[in-house]
Amino acid sequence: MEAVDLTHVPVVDNHCHGVTTDQAFGDVEAWRRAFTESTDPRMPREHVATTVFYRRLIRALAPFLGCEPTEDAVFAARTAREGKGLTAELLRAANIDTLLLDTGFPPPEEVFPVPELGELGGCRAEPMLRLEVLMESLLTGHDTLAATEEALAAALEDVGAGGHVALKSIAAYRTGLDIREWSREEAEASFREYRRSALKGSARLVHKPLLDTLLHVAFALAADQQVPVQFHVGYGDADTDLLLGNPLHLRAVLEAHEYRGMPVVLLHECYPYTRQGGYLAGVYENVYLDLSYGIPLLGYGEMLAFTRQALGVAPISKLVYSSDGIVVPELHWMSAIDGRRVIGEALGELVAYGEASLTEAEAAGESVLRGNAIRLYRL
Ligand SMILES: [Zn+2]
Repeated sequence: MEAVDLTHVPVVDNHCHGVTTDQAFGDVEAWRRAFTESTDPRMPREHVATTVFYRRLIRALAPFLGCEPTEDAVFAARTAREGKGLTAELLRAANIDTLLLDTGFPPPEEVFPVPELGELGGCRAEPMLRLEVLMESLLTGHDTLAATEEALAAALEDVGAGGHVALKSIAAYRTGLDIREWSREEAEASFREYRRSALKGSARLVHKPLLDTLLHVAFALAADQQVPVQFHVGYGDADTDLLLGNPLHLRAVLEAHEYRGMPVVLLHECYPYTRQGGYLAGVYENVYLDLSYGIPLLGYGEMLAFTRQALGVAPISKLVYSSDGIVVPELHWMSAIDGRRVIGEALGELVAYGEASLTEAEAAGESVLRGNAIRLYRL
């Protein structure tokens, strides 16, 4: 079976995060923390270095940095480089066309500003707006639910003019993807509850009727403007309840006729719910499936498996590449290499099965890595 060669295709990384300006991790254990979703300090100490992902990363970084393929040698070589230089070197080697950045995390003061990251990478870089961060900032400044809704509508009146190419929601992390319609009384009660907990010092929006109600305001505006909304789905840190991370919970939102103009991007291949996400992309015209190769932190075989699942059920025009890279530039870099290789291999199988010609498979690879995102986000 011959893989389709996609090594020359520049990628549009449709979902990633900033790289922290401070790339000095002190010791290898601190660096390992960038390669786990666990917050338990015993994980980087005892277990992270044994993951297949980490082993692959070390082996890939060694020739790039010109050192032995051992963890100590790789860490020493990356530490010997200054953060800005390392970031530029890795991003440029990844051959990136555009980075779409979720600026909601890490905090903006810790990462390279969006334009600077673009300059370092020799690529275009565009920010996306995280809805829950915006909502929390508006909730602290407004006394009533109606005033908050009005302020949210004003802030999202022209998303493009505000400089954002997409919106992003982390409802999956907060109250679940089963975003519902609530009565005015329920929403008002939830607003009062939020105010009480905010007064006690917690401005975190985890109040379901309130968050759902505000999301509906955002969805209506996104649909009007046809602005894509990315949803965190599936795999994430221990904050997320993976039992509730199934994208099928989005049914009510997807069925709502008034939101059909809103492109919905299901992030992280909905791992491990890739088949469900691919199914939704096959059924709803406005649903896209993101294929992310940096995070989830997976072995090669598992990346090939989810890529096959996605290609097997979703239209190829609905698949978009990303890294979900965050904090360290290694993730953005590694993902671009792995993504091209895995997608190329999965497309090679389609050729072998007689499902595509080589020319069609090459065009499909270009679409997934770049073309579909350019169309979707109107880049
Ligand atoms: Zn992300």
